[in-house]
This record gives sequence, C-alpha cells and structure tokens, in this order.
Amino acid sequence: MPARITAPRGTRDLLPEESAGFARLEALASDLSARYAFDRIDTPLFERVELFARGLGESSDAVEKEMFRVSGAAGSEEERAEWALRPEPTAGIVRAFVEHGMHVRPGPLRLWMLGPMFRYDRPQAGRYRQFTQWDVEVIGDPGPMVDAELIELAHRFLAEAGVRGAVAHLNSIGDAACRPAYRQALLEYFGAHEDRLTDDSRRRLRVNPLRVLDDRNLDPDLAAGAPRSADHLCAECAEHFAAARALLDELGVAYELDHRLVRGLDYYTRTTFEFFVAGREGQQQALAGGGRYDGLAELLGGRPTPGIGFGLGIDRVLLAAEEQGVTAPVAAPLVAVVSADPEAFAERLRVASVLREAGLRVRPDGSSRKLGKQLESAAKAGAGWAVIVGQELDAGRVVLRDLAAGEQRETLLRDVATQVGGG
Ligand code: AMP
Repeated sequence: MPARITAPRGTRDLLPEESAGFARLEALASDLSARYAFDRIDTPLFERVELFARGLGESSDAVEKEMFRVSGAAGSEEERAEWALRPEPTAGIVRAFVEHGMHVRPGPLRLWMLGPMFRYDRPQAGRYRQFTQWDVEVIGDPGPMVDAELIELAHRFLAEAGVRGAVAHLNSIGDAACRPAYRQALLEYFGAHEDRLTDDSRRRLRVNPLRVLDDRNLDPDLAAGAPRSADHLCAECAEHFAAARALLDELGVAYELDHRLVRGLDYYTRTTFEFFVAGREGQQQALAGGGRYDGLAELLGGRPTPGIGFGLGIDRVLLAAEEQGVTAPVAAPLVAVVSADPEAFAERLRVASVLREAGLRVRPDGSSRKLGKQLESAAKAGAGWAVIVGQELDAGRVVLRDLAAGEQRETLLRDVATQVGGG
C-alpha cells in the first residue's frame, strides 16, 4: 500500500465539526464590516517579495525568517521572479490603493478583507503556517477618532464572538519627527547592556533597536528599565495619543498601556495596539493587532497618505471562544427525504427540490434499502424529520415523520416547511 500523505506541518484541515464555529466568526466579520461601513477588497494570496521587504522592513521577522517563497513553473520565463505568499494583508491592500489610484475616490477609504495569511514560523499551539485573518483598514484619515473607532470595533468583535475579558494593549511609537531620538535612546540603553541581549536582539539592535523590545526572549528586568516611547513623543504625537485614549475612555473600552508594544513591522507610526484575554498575554496569544502606518503609501510609491488598520486572527479567536465554552449555533432543522419505493429517485429529488426552495435543509436518501433502514440512517445523520415519498405524491401529499417522537401523519407537501418550523 502506498504511504499516506499528510497535511504540511503548521497547517490544519477544518473538519465539518470545526467549520461551524469558523463560519460563525467569518459571518460576524462580514456583518461587523458592513455595520461599520467598510467595503470589501481582495488582493492576491502572493505578491512580489519586494513589496513585503519594502513595506514590512528587511529586519521584520515576517521578511527575515518567515517568508514563504513561491516560484513560477520550472523553465518558465517567470521562474526567477520572486514572489511570496502574503504574511499579512496591509502591504497588499496599500499596494492596490496606490496601483489603482484610489486616492481620488471620496475618502477616507474603509476597506476590509478576510482570508488566509502564510508565515513560515515554528508551528505550535495557536501558531500556524497558514491562518485566517479578518482585516480592516482606514486609508486617508489622520485623526485620532478613527484610532478609537477601530479599537472599539476589534473590541466589539471579540465581545460578539463570545470572548470574555478581552483587553487592548496600547502604545504610541511616534513618527518621523520623534522616533529618531527614541531609537537613539534605545540604542544607547541596550548598547550598554549588550551582554544581556540574545543573539537575535544584538542583530536587531543594529537594524531597528525598537524591535529589541518585542524579542520574545528579552530579559524582563532589562525590558522594564528600557526607555519608553510614550516618554519620547513630539508634541503632535503626544496630543494624538492623548486624544485617542480620551475617546476610548468615553467609549468605555478598557485598555492597558504597554511600552513594549512596538509591533514587529517597520511601517507602524504612532498608535499600536494588540488584544489579549486578560491573564493570557503570551506571544502566541494575541487575538488581534494593528496600528497606524502613516508612511506606508509613500514607501510604496504613492503620495503621502495616513492609514490605520488591524488584523484579527480567526483561528485564535475561535480557540479562545471554545476554551471559554462558547459553542457554534445549532444549524436549521434537517429533513431527510426517503421512500419505500427502491426506485423512486426522481420523486425523492423532486420533493427535496421543493423543500429546499422553501428554505429547508434537506438530505435525500439515495439508496434502495428498506424504508426502516433509511429512517434509521436519517436519525443518525441528525435529521429531526423525514418526508416519506409514496403514491400520494400524485395528489401533492407526503407523509411527514417526526423522528424523535416516532409519530407520522399525511400532509400537503407545500405545508411541510411550516410544520417543521423552518424555511
Ligand atoms: P500580527 O500582524 O502578527 O499582529 O497578526 C495579527 C493577528 O493574526 C494576531 O493577533 C493573531 O491573532 C493572528 N496571527 C498572527 N500570526 C499567526 C499564526 N502564525 N497563527 C495563527 N494566528 C496568527
């Protein structure tokens, strides 16, 4: 027998019993996007490596270690072109914004996306190589109100998903005016303690000292004493940050200031945030993360355009909700269509078609087994009702059986939907 082929490490199959929970969160993402007046956008699953290198920064983990490279068909012209599966959605969305000249549209633009992201990271609980993100972006709005609006949106998603105790971590990492002095302060501080840094951090220190702060293995005492970006903000950034926080207070959205929250990507400016369940604040436990990226459009060849967004991990939110005992909603009642006539396939399909048109969830039995056997497997498949098709169909009538009660009666086919309480 040939050896079995298994799914690649870090990926997972969503089996039917898991997909109802997943679908519920996808529907919530779509519904909330509509309620907050976002328009859907979809960008390709792969892009030029250059986009991520420029947009995310060469020193980001996503570019340095986690990029999933893709090449064209062997021997093709494009074989050497360097593409990568998208590790995150913002760079692709802003690339599309610039490419399609979307700055001329009435703004600010409010865009959302839902789909898989890919990172070649070491797989573990809550960290996959393919995962699904719901992403929202507002492009063209510099003010702090939208910062608060987006944080409130992520907060609402988690609440409506049934996750209790979600809390936002919040920071501001300044802008082009004040970041250089902050970088310098970090460089001096960590430079003086280089012996206590991991190899990874020593390298980060040279390329982007902010990223030392999100080193998973940074000595906690060293981290606690590090200069804080919030203390190094210029007047404009300080004012923006204070205004965003005041709005969150008004909205009653709980947050904690977190000076280590610099986010892994180079494009962030000013506000950064992540969501956790209180008490579960490890690296693999962030449920959502985002921030402002006022310099990104320009970096990608567009005109200077402010932007802000977040990505929310559907897989992780599902795990968190399940851990808290949230279950997926029960599906609409299932109706089986069966018949004592071993050859009445056309009739079974015709009846199934009529019931589906009335909105019911219908599973016709395609076997020629005895009626009793068909009813038995209908009940096993979770059907609450069976419609038994026989001679009386000529008069527009069928037998409707309540499988749990074991009772049945003859009825008009067109009345079945009202009688089973669906449709
Ligand atoms: P990030 O841009 O890394 O902050 O990602 C945004 C959100 O996506 C995180 O808060 C997680 O919920 C989710 N996420 C990121 N990486 C992974 C991963 N490897 N596996 C599962 N979910 C992830």
